Parts: sequence; structure tokens; C-alpha cells
Amino acid sequence: SSGRTALIWRDGHLIPWEQATLHVMSHVVHYGSSVFEGIRCYETPSGPAVFRLREHMRRLVDSCKIYRIELPWTVDQLVQATVDLVAANELRHCYLRPVVVRAGEQMGVLPFGVPIETFIVAWKWGTYLGADALEKGVDVCVSSWRRAAPGTFPTMAKAGGNYLNSQLAKMEARTDGYVEGITLDSFGYVAEGSGENLFVIRDGIIYTSGLDSAILNGITRDSVIRIARDLGYEVREERLPREMLYVADELFFTGTAAELTPIRSVDRIDVGEGKPGPITKAIQDRYMGIVTGRVADPYGWLTPVPVA
Ligand code: PMP
Repeated sequence: SSGRTALIWRDGHLIPWEQATLHVMSHVVHYGSSVFEGIRCYETPSGPAVFRLREHMRRLVDSCKIYRIELPWTVDQLVQATVDLVAANELRHCYLRPVVVRAGEQMGVLPFGVPIETFIVAWKWGTYLGADALEKGVDVCVSSWRRAAPGTFPTMAKAGGNYLNSQLAKMEARTDGYVEGITLDSFGYVAEGSGENLFVIRDGIIYTSGLDSAILNGITRDSVIRIARDLGYEVREERLPREMLYVADELFFTGTAAELTPIRSVDRIDVGEGKPGPITKAIQDRYMGIVTGRVADPYGWLTPVPVA
């Protein structure tokens, strides 16, 4: 890929990009046994800084715990490894992908005893939902695919297998001419995008689905909730019926890759005036300001990367 970098971190060592390979008989290839993270490192006036690195690594550890993966690395070690990787690749900004895989060549579903490998990859990645997305907003649909029902796939885990569901929603959306699909949960309430959480604004109040709607516990979501409350807005985490999407004044996605992307239509119905609204823009401006070091970070969300 064009955004590739020189070095990848694998279990304590920095190895050349080309050498970070797996065998076709690795357990993960057949049974989806991986967990991962997506993190951004931003260029700030005082050098590169990784956004909420510790929280992402904690979620990786949580995902491992849910899937009984015995991760041999602590949050502290993974944080340090990430900082070292960005520095070694001499990157000013990048996307970071820690991934833990059941890499051993062992067939049969039972993953016990299958050797685990941990990688952290850095690469250059621009806007996720298109060049104009952050400014103009995107056109989305409600997917015919539902998020996993409670007691099926644990959606709090950021596991590779969960993204089969995301791929179905995304392919359907793209095939039908939309940028992204919004999935409902198994009860028909609004869940999230295929790779983003969702916020709904009506009459000045900000709503977002809770963990009971089968969402990933997004770190951008958490950041936006805190920013919005500190800006004086009321934020409610509750179940949302599908039709809230059609009568919303404003709608936006949040995610590490998508950052804060306004939604301008759902199922060809305009959201509000059909362009990003004032509350969306205010929160987006504050979020982008903090991550890029343009405004002071009162939350301690940035981990600086020392540059040589
Ligand atoms: N939901 C899903 C399904 C995702 O894949 C992502 C991206 N990690 C998100 C929500 C947003 O999470 P975060 O803000 O932590 O990137």
C-alpha cells in the first residue's frame, strides 16, 4: 500500500515491513481469531502526538481478556512500543494498528495453546470517508444488516471477526451509492456505522446509543461526550428509534479514522438543512483543535513522541 512505512513492531522488535508475515495455516486466517486497535498520531506544533494511546491499549487488553487471549504485553509496554515505532519510522503523523493474532499453524476451532503474535503497524492515512467528508458531510443509509444480538458476538471487543458484519453493511451501502451504512441493533434501535459511532442532535440536545445497543465503546465517542458536556451541551446515552435519524437537526459519526464526520442525509432524506449544523461544527472544531495541538488539551489526551 502507498502509506507503508519502513518498520513494524513485532513482539519487542522492529522488523522490516516485508518481514511482518503470517502463514496461511495460521489459526487467525481460518477462524478470525484476532483483536486490534486503530489509533491516530497527529502532527502538533510541539511534534507528533498520539491521541488517547493508553485508552486504546487498554481496550486492546480488554478485547484479549474477552477472547481469553493471553497477551504477554502490558498497557505500559504497548504504549512505549508505539512511541518507539513512530519515532523509529520518523513519522510526523500516522495511523497506528496494533493487532494481536492467534498466529500458530494449528487447525480446529479450539484456540488454546495456539501461539500468539502481537504487531504494531504505522502507516500514512488521510481522511477515511472521502476528501470533502469532514467539511461537507456524507450521504448514508440505514443498513439491512443488524449488529450482533446480545449473547452472540461480544461487540465491546474490537475483534477481527466482528468486521465481517461491518463489511456486509459497508458493501451494501457502497453498492447502493452511499458512503456508509448505519446498522440497527437486533431490537431495531440505532447502533452505529460500520466503523463509527453515531450522534443525533435535536432541539439542542445530543443523543448517542449506549452499550446496550451493541456498539463498540468508541474512544472518539467518549472524547466527544466529554467535549460536548464541557461546552455546555446536554448529552444523553439512550436507545434511539430509527426515525430519530430522519427528524434530527444534526447527525454525525465519530471514530479514530472518521474523526468527526457530519452526515448530511440518511436514506436520501436531508438531515436538517442538508449541511453540517452549528453544534456539529463547534464540537468538530474543538476536537480537531485538541488532537492537532491547536488548542490546549485540558484532558491529558496526547502522548508526545520525542523526535531526534
Ligand atoms: N464502531 C466501530 C464498529 C468501529 O470499528 C469503530 C472504529 N474503531 C468505532 C465505532 C469508533 O471507535 P473509536 O472512536 O475508538 O475509533
